[in-house]
Amino acid sequence: MQPKEFPFPLARVLEMEKRTPTPFHVYDAAGILKRAEALNAAFAWAPGYRNYFAVKATPNPAIIELLRAAGSGADCSSLAELVLAERAGLRGEDVVFTSNDTPAAEFRKAAAMGAMLNFDDISHIGYARRALGGKLPEFACCRWNPGPLKDGNSIIGKPEEAKYGFTRDQIFEGFRQLRDGGVRRFGLHAMVASNERSALYFAETAKLLFELAAEVSAALGIEFSFIDIGGGFGIPYRPGEEPLDLGEVGRGVERAAREILVANGHPLPRIATECGRYVTGPCGWLVSRVLHVKRTYRNYAGLDACMADLMRPALYGAYHHITVFGKEGAPAEETYDVTGSLCENNDKFAIARPLPRLEPGDLVAIHDAGAHGHAMGFNYNGKLRHAEWLAEPDGANRLIRRAETLDDLFATLVPPVRVREAAAPERGA
Ligand SMILES: *Cc1c(COP(=O)(O)O)cnc(C)c1O
Repeated sequence: MQPKEFPFPLARVLEMEKRTPTPFHVYDAAGILKRAEALNAAFAWAPGYRNYFAVKATPNPAIIELLRAAGSGADCSSLAELVLAERAGLRGEDVVFTSNDTPAAEFRKAAAMGAMLNFDDISHIGYARRALGGKLPEFACCRWNPGPLKDGNSIIGKPEEAKYGFTRDQIFEGFRQLRDGGVRRFGLHAMVASNERSALYFAETAKLLFELAAEVSAALGIEFSFIDIGGGFGIPYRPGEEPLDLGEVGRGVERAAREILVANGHPLPRIATECGRYVTGPCGWLVSRVLHVKRTYRNYAGLDACMADLMRPALYGAYHHITVFGKEGAPAEETYDVTGSLCENNDKFAIARPLPRLEPGDLVAIHDAGAHGHAMGFNYNGKLRHAEWLAEPDGANRLIRRAETLDDLFATLVPPVRVREAAAPERGA
C-alpha cells in the first residue's frame, strides 16, 4: 500500500507557522517538477508535446513559473488566469485559452497575448471575430463534445449532459467557417474526464479525436497541427488506490495516432494535454491545527481550517487523507468528524475517520490538496483566505501568497470598513 507521507520535517512547517499562523498551504516544488517531467517522458514520442498546466488548479504565478522550467505552458479559462500566465512569463502559443460562455474582452485579451483560442461553441466563432475587429487569428482550435460516443466519468458526468463543446456536426461546420474565415492552422480538443485513473480511458478519447480529425481533414481539405486531449488525469486520493499508469497513457495515445493518422498519410500533429490536478494535486498539503475536540453523539475534531480553505470534501464528498504530526505511527483508535467552523453542517474534511486520539493543538496535514484547494477558496462567514508556501528543493521556504486580512475582505465595501488592529497577516513579522 502506498503510504501518504508529508515529505518535509516538522521543523520546516513550524518555521512557516512562525510567519503565517495556520491554516496554510505548502507545495513541494521538486515534486511538482517531477510530475511535469513524468508527463513529458510519457509523451516523448510526440514531437512538440506539451502539457498546458490548467491554471485554475493552482492559480499562483510562482507555480506556473516553476512549471515553465519543465516546458509546460498554461491552459487558461478566464481573464484572471490569462493575466497570471502572462505574469509568469508565458507568451503567445505557450497559452491555450479554453474558455466557455466567454466574454468579448477575454477573447480580446487572449488574442492580444497571441494565445491559442480554443472555441467552446460554434456561435463563438462569429462572436470572437466581431470582438477581434472582424479578423480571426491564424490558429484556432475547437472543443468537441463526443456526447453519447463516450461514457461518463463520475466527477465530470455524461458528455451529453455537459455544457462544453461542439456536437459532431457542428465540428464540421465550425472548421469550414474557420477555414473560410482565414484561419490557417487548426487544432482539435476534447476533455471528457476528471480525476480518471484508467489509462484506457485516455487512449480511447485520443482515438475518437484522431478519427474525427481524419474525417474533418478529408471533408474540408485541412490538416490538424494540434490535438489536445485535455486534462483530467487522476490521482489516488485514498491510500492503496492505484495511480494512473502514465506510460500506458502515452503508449495508448501513440498507438492510436500511428494507426489512425500516420498510417493514413496524415502528419503527426502536436499532442497536448491540459493537466492540472495530476501535476500539483499530490504535491500540496493544507496544514492546520486542532482547535477543539468535542465529544457529543460523535467525536468532533474542530480545525482552524474550514471548507473555505479546501472545499472538495464538502462539495464532492471527496476523500482527503489526514495525518497528525508526531502521531504518524500511532494506532487509529478513535473515529472523528474533522470539521471547520462554518455555520454549515457539511463543513467537514472527513466523516467518521479513524485517527489517533486527538488533542487541541495537534498539527495536521490534509493531503492531496495541491489542486483545486486554495483555488476554490471563498469568503463565506467572513473567512479569510490563507497563505501559500512553496518549499524549494534547497530547503528554502518561499511565501508565495500572504494570508488575507479583514482589511482585504472589506476593501470593496462602500464605504470601506477599516479594522487594522484585526489584521495579522504575518505573526511575529
Ligand atoms: C479543469 C480543466 C482542466 C484540468 O483538469 P485537471 O483535472 O486538473 O487535469 C483542463 N482543461 C479544461 C478545459 C478544464 O476545464
